[in-house]
Amino acid sequence: MSNLKLCQGPKCHTYNTQDRLKGMKGSKTYQTRRRSKLLYGEFCDTRCYSAWLNKYATIAVDHFGRLKKVKHLTEQNAWVKNYRWDYERNNGEAKHYYLNTITREQRPLTEQQYDDINYTLNER
Ligand SMILES: [Zn+2]
Repeated sequence: MSNLKLCQGPKCHTYNTQDRLKGMKGSKTYQTRRRSKLLYGEFCDTRCYSAWLNKYATIAVDHFGRLKKVKHLTEQNAWVKNYRWDYERNNGEAKHYYLNTITREQRPLTEQQYDDINYTLNER
């Protein structure tokens, strides 16, 4: 029993690469790639990923739920953690800070707050 995963790209077997060409002389075929680990989720490469999306994206969106109205990111949830790489040249400014991407307001952060994935100014 093989533990190899098959690439789910619908056209994987049609791409003419040497690693896909398998079999004995006289009965060679291009075959779907199989790998112990697929690097692009269920796919061997971005070409197979795109081919699947082109074929199935609409069906998948309709199956899992189509977005029917515009989503809004409000000021209350527009805070992103940021970091000044040129900190040494900007004495007095906090190295780590929160930036509100709508209002452009900045608030200093400690390094601990910056590193804490649970610390946020965004409302939940
Ligand atoms: Zn593939």
